[in-house]
Order: sequence, then C-alpha cells, then structure tokens
Amino acid sequence: MSDRFAVVGAGQMGNGIAHVCATSGFDVTLIDVSADALAKGRATIEKNLDRQVKKGSLDAAAKAAALGRIRESTSLDAVKEATIVVEAATERKDLKFQIFRDLDRLAPKGAILATNTSSISITEIAAVTQRPELVIGMHFMNPVPLMELVEVIRGLATSDETNARTLALSKALGKTPVEANDYPGFIANRILLPMINEACYAVMEGVGTPEAVDQVMKLGMNHPMGPLTLADFIGLDTCVAILEVLHEGLGDPKYRPCPLLRKYVAAGWYGRKSGRGFYQYGA
Ligand code: NAD
Repeated sequence: MSDRFAVVGAGQMGNGIAHVCATSGFDVTLIDVSADALAKGRATIEKNLDRQVKKGSLDAAAKAAALGRIRESTSLDAVKEATIVVEAATERKDLKFQIFRDLDRLAPKGAILATNTSSISITEIAAVTQRPELVIGMHFMNPVPLMELVEVIRGLATSDETNARTLALSKALGKTPVEANDYPGFIANRILLPMINEACYAVMEGVGTPEAVDQVMKLGMNHPMGPLTLADFIGLDTCVAILEVLHEGLGDPKYRPCPLLRKYVAAGWYGRKSGRGFYQYGA
C-alpha cells in the first residue's frame, strides 16, 4: 500500500510540507483548526506551484495533479486514513501534547506520528501516546519546497523500523535526511538560534544596526541571508519559543532570549508573517 500523509497545521511549514507531499505523488490531507489558515495555506501552495511552473521545474499538468492530491479538513478525524501524520502546528508544548494524545486515538494503528517541532523533546511528545515507538521528529526547513534538509530525530523509544521508514519517506519527498538525537534544539537550532540571539544582542547594545549585522554575516561569512533577516523569516515568536526550550532544557544562561527579541514579540512584531520584525515588509 502506498503511503498517505496527513499534515496537522496549515501555517508556513504545514502548507510547505503538504506541497512537497503532493508534488512527490502522495495523497495528503491538510488539517488546521482554522478554516482561514486552510484557505491561506491552499492559496500559498497554488502561488508556489505557479512559481515552479514559471521557472519550468513543473508543468501545468503536474501542478493540477498535485493540487488534486491535497484535501483539507478542520477536523483531526481526517487522519484516519493516514499512514504517516506530520504535525506542524504552533510551537507550544501543551498544544502538541494534546494533539499527540488525539492523534494516538484517531490515527490508524501502525501509522507513524511525526512532529516538525523545532525544539520540543521528541521523547516527551512520544510519552503522551501509547505508541512511542512510532513517534519521531521530522524537522523540515523553511521554505519547505526549496530546502533540501530534513533533520530526522529519534526519541528514546523510537524503533529502528520507524526511523528507517521515516528516512525512506524523507527521500521519497526529494529531501536529504540527516539523523540527530533528541537533545534540546537537535542539531540545526542548537547551533542556529544562539547565533540569531547574539545578533539581537548586538542590535540591542548598539554594536550595529540590523542592516550592518546582516551585511557582516553575508559578506564576511558568506551566509546567504543575514541572521536577522532569517529570524524575521522564521518568525520572532518561534525564535523566542526555541530559545526558551534551549534555556530550560540545557540550563545554561547563555541561551536566555534577548530582551529586545522578547519586546518585539510582545509588540506583535513577529517578522515577515506579521509585516514587521527587525525589518518592515510591504503592505
Ligand atoms: P504558523 O504559526 O505559521 O502555523 C501554525 C498553524 O498551526 C496555524 O495555522 C494554526 O492555526 C495551526 N494550529 C494551531 N493549533 C492547532 C491544532 N490544535 N490543530 C491543528 N492546527 C493547529 O507556524 P509555523 O512556522 O508553520 O510552525 C509550525 C511548526 O513548525 C512549529 O512546531 C515550528 O517550531 C516548526 N518549524 C518552524 C520553522 C520556521 O521556520 N517557521 C522551521 C522548522 C520548524
């Protein structure tokens, strides 16, 4: 039987994951509590598929076929035919625990329950279910259709079979999986977020403007995007949430979120998705 995906959360990451499932030939159900988020998710997928058609990496028939493979639902019950669920809802522990309790009840026996969490412990998420051997981290990068990496994170109880199936599915989605173990931030965010946080301190302390900080890292270190541009892209709220997990989980004050970053989040300046973060984005 071929695999069927369900993706929980139709935000930035969820719609990208559904996009890649559909263009890779898998049926996928995109689920969100918000009908508005589903509509926006679908519109984003269409826009990004159009971009691929314009670039010539996809033809019009493949676009139509991909769109035809995507279903939407506001009810988690829609996971009942999935062989793999990828959860990409808001980065909050209590929320993910509740979603995984529900997924464990609703998804077929034997279905893999993967999470796209940036930082929450896979082992802890697995422990709220009756199938911890089938729970795994599948950490896609943003924007999902363009980025090659999937960090595959084993929880303490994840079985070898679940790990092998997830690595194979990541490849079937055209991605390159890299294996990591379950410690706060895994590999990607353990290294990326302290750099972003330090860039925020540099701005807060007046060492340089956001533009200067980003220019130094681009021109001096050959990063394709400066850390503050990247932070705006990830979402400043998500950045704070990840830093809090690193801070709490590793117990080292070097991970404390920069007060300026917290202030921006308190003001609703979440970055690109809210129109303002370290930079301002078009109307
Ligand atoms: P987002 O805010 O764009 O989207 C989250 C979506 O989850 C929203 O549409 C919201 O309505 C939905 N949601 C909330 N509660 C739900 C529920 N109970 N059931 C179904 N849907 C629900 O967030 P995002 O940036 O897409 O991040 C999603 C996940 O991906 C987070 O765990 C985040 O840490 C992770 N992640 C983000 C990035 C990034 O660069 N943004 C990169 C890798 C991983």
